[in-house]
Amino acid sequence: MSQAVTRSTLERPEDRLIQRFDVGQVKGKTIRGLLEKGFSLAICCRACPRLVEWTPPQLLERFGETLDLRLVDLVPRLACSGDEGCGSRDVAVFPHFYDGAWSWPPN
Ligand SMILES: [Zn+2]
Repeated sequence: MSQAVTRSTLERPEDRLIQRFDVGQVKGKTIRGLLEKGFSLAICCRACPRLVEWTPPQLLERFGETLDLRLVDLVPRLACSGDEGCGSRDVAVFPHFYDGAWSWPPN
């Protein structure tokens, strides 16, 4: 999570949504599914106000070899890391429609 964040229209969801997040909510979702629909992955730390967006191009760069990775398996590996991170592993994730340039499959 240390790379530069490309901001789109993403805003941090309401706290109650973040606190209520359960990994079961993204059951069945994969990286490939996000890319096909043009969604970013919004990662919200539950221990601090940090919000990180992984845009479709960033997801492809990170997970190009493992597109079928399920979010339920990814989430436990995430942490609020990097210079601005608090180090917590308690994060919530949400798909967010990406309004940047994106097409799938890539040309
Ligand atoms: Zn944090």
